[in-house]
Amino acid sequence: MKEPVYNFGAGPAMLPIPVMEKIQREWLDYQGMGVSIIEISHRAKEFVAVLNAAQDLFRELTGLPDNYRILFVHGGARMQFAALPLNFAGRVPGKKCLYVETGNFAQLAAREAQNFCSVETIASSAESDYDRIPDMTNVAIPQDAAYLHITGNNTIYGTRWNRFPETGAVPLIADMTSELLSRQIDYNQFGVVYAGLQKNLGPSGMAMVIVREDLLGFVSQQTPSLLNYTQCDKDNSLTNTTNTFAVYVIKLVLEWLKDQGGVAAIEKLNEQKAARLYQVIDDGDFYRGIAQCEHRSIMNVSFKLRTEELDAQFLIEADAIGLYALKGHRNVGGIRASIYNPMPLSGVEKLATFMEEFARKNS
Ligand SMILES: *Cc1c(COP(=O)(O)O)cnc(C)c1O
Repeated sequence: MKEPVYNFGAGPAMLPIPVMEKIQREWLDYQGMGVSIIEISHRAKEFVAVLNAAQDLFRELTGLPDNYRILFVHGGARMQFAALPLNFAGRVPGKKCLYVETGNFAQLAAREAQNFCSVETIASSAESDYDRIPDMTNVAIPQDAAYLHITGNNTIYGTRWNRFPETGAVPLIADMTSELLSRQIDYNQFGVVYAGLQKNLGPSGMAMVIVREDLLGFVSQQTPSLLNYTQCDKDNSLTNTTNTFAVYVIKLVLEWLKDQGGVAAIEKLNEQKAARLYQVIDDGDFYRGIAQCEHRSIMNVSFKLRTEELDAQFLIEADAIGLYALKGHRNVGGIRASIYNPMPLSGVEKLATFMEEFARKNS
C-alpha cells in the first residue's frame, strides 16, 4: 500500500476521510431517491431537511444561544467583508465601524468596508509584522460605533485571540474562517461570527454567518439582495439557489465532529497536535516560530528555518514522504502546517518526527 498523504494545506483544506467516503457512497443515489443530492431542488423537502439538520447540529455542538440565527451565504469569507458594513453600519449615525488589524485578511476586511462605512482602525500589529495580537487593555472602544471587527485566527501568521476584547455595547464581529468549531467559545460575547467554509467546514465559495437577532433589520438600502442578511434569514438561506452540495457537506462534517466527541473533545486534540509541533520548534534554535508564544494559533503553525535554501530543502523532503502543502504563505515565506479539525494526530506525529530528523541531519 502507498503511504498516506497528509494534507497540511491552508485552504481549501483536508476533509475527514469518513465524510468523503460517505459522499462517495451516497453520490449516485441519495437515500434511495435514485438521484444525487446535487440533482434535486434546493426547495425539495429532502434538501431542506439537510439544511435544517446542519443548523440544528451546529446549535447542538456549540451551545449557540436561541437568539442567534445561522445563515448560509454566497461568496466565501471575503464577500462578507462587504456584507458586514452593508448590513450593520446603518445601526449608528455616521456609520463608524472599528477594525483591528492583525494580518492580511483583517486588512482586506477593513479595506473592503471603507467603500460602505467610515472605518477606524483602533489597533494594529503591522509594526511587528503581525507576529502577535495587539494589546487591547488600553485601547478605548468608542461606544458610538456600529461594531468592532476582529480576525479570530490569523491563518497566514499563525496567531489567534486567546482573550476577546471587551467591547461594551459595541457588537463584536469575528472572522473565524480558520478556526470555527476548533475551540469552545461563548457566543454571547459576539454580535456576529462568520467563516468561509473551506478550512474547517467543507467546500470553498460559501460562508456561514451566525448573527444575533437584534442586529438584523439595519441593512443599507443599496445592498444587493443576496448580501442582505435580514432577507437571507427570512428565506432560511434559500433566497436563491444555494450551493446545495456545500450545505450537504457541512452537515456531514458536523455529524463527524459529533462522533469525535464534539467541540470540547476536538479542542483538546487540537491543543495536543499544536503542542507537539511547537515543542519541536522550541527545542533548540533550528526552527524559528513566526508567532509570539502567547499568541500562537492551534490551527496554523508557521515557522522558518535558518535560510531560504533550507526552507526549500525541507519542503522537497517533506513532500517526498507524503507531507503535502507545507509551504508558507507568500507574505511570510517559510513553512506553515495547517492542522484543522480533520488532521489526525498521526499526521502531526509524522511531521514532528520528520522535523526532528531534518534538524538533526542539517544542524
Ligand atoms: C481563508 C480566509 C479568508 C478568505 O476566505 P475566502 O472564502 O477565500 O473569501 C478570510 N479570512 C480568513 C481568516 C481566512 O483564513
